[in-house]
Order: sequence, then structure tokens, then C-alpha cells
Amino acid sequence: MSKYVSKKKRTIIKERSGHSCEYCKIPEIFSFLGFEVDHIISLKHDGSNELDNLAWSCAFCNNFKGTDLGTFLLPSMDLIRFYNPRMDEWKDNFKFKEAFILPKTNIAKATIKILQLNHINRIEEREALIVAGLFPPFDFPFQNQ
Ligand SMILES: [Zn+2]
Repeated sequence: MSKYVSKKKRTIIKERSGHSCEYCKIPEIFSFLGFEVDHIISLKHDGSNELDNLAWSCAFCNNFKGTDLGTFLLPSMDLIRFYNPRMDEWKDNFKFKEAFILPKTNIAKATIKILQLNHINRIEEREALIVAGLFPPFDFPFQNQ
């Protein structure tokens, strides 16, 4: 199956996301790298090109995620799937503590681990935006919950 996503679908996906990464919530306007359409379930694993399998993602999240669907969490080594922006609520799984993204669930732990949501460079980027009063945005409904 082709990875091609039409311009019309890309516009819908971008608007639906609020112009922010659906994983780390960084607003697209503050990203130096272009945002990308993420196949939540990759084509390699028979995911579709339909809107219910697509998410708007920053380049960091999309590249770290790759075609992965989940990971093993220590110490149990349970296989845990990633957060799915079409099935799961961000605020039910994650919360911000200043520039850090903290997990509320194992799904969030798996996602934070593999997408490296708390990589030092990403923390520093969010800290700079917080200091500038630009992050989280005012309409961000789920800070510190
Ligand atoms: Zn991201």
C-alpha cells in the first residue's frame, strides 16, 4: 500500500490536531522541522491510509516511533502498545510537570520511552517555550492534571 496521503486528508489531520503534535503536544509553529503524517499502525503492520489511522506528528516523535507499535516495559517485560491519538485521550494518559511529560498509564510509559518524549533536547525546547510564555498554549486544557 502506498504511503501517499492526499493534500485534503493532510489538511484535515492538521486541523484536527490543533496544529500540534498529537504525541508530545509541541505546537507546529514552534518546530523548526516540518510536521509529518504518522501512520499510527504502520503500513508494514497492515495499518491503513484512512483518517482513523493517521495522526499529526512532529518529526522527532514520528522518527523515534518509526514502524513500532509498542514496547516491552521493565521489570515485567509486558508488551505494551503505544498511545493511539484516535482511540485514547491524551489527558487520561499523560500530564505535564513543567517541561516534562509524565505517564499516567503503561501506554504512556511505553510511548514516552520509545518516542523519547523527555529527551534532553526536547525538555530544553519546552523549557524555552515555557519561559517565553508560549507553552503550554492558553487553550491547553490539561496542564498539571
Ligand atoms: Zn511530537
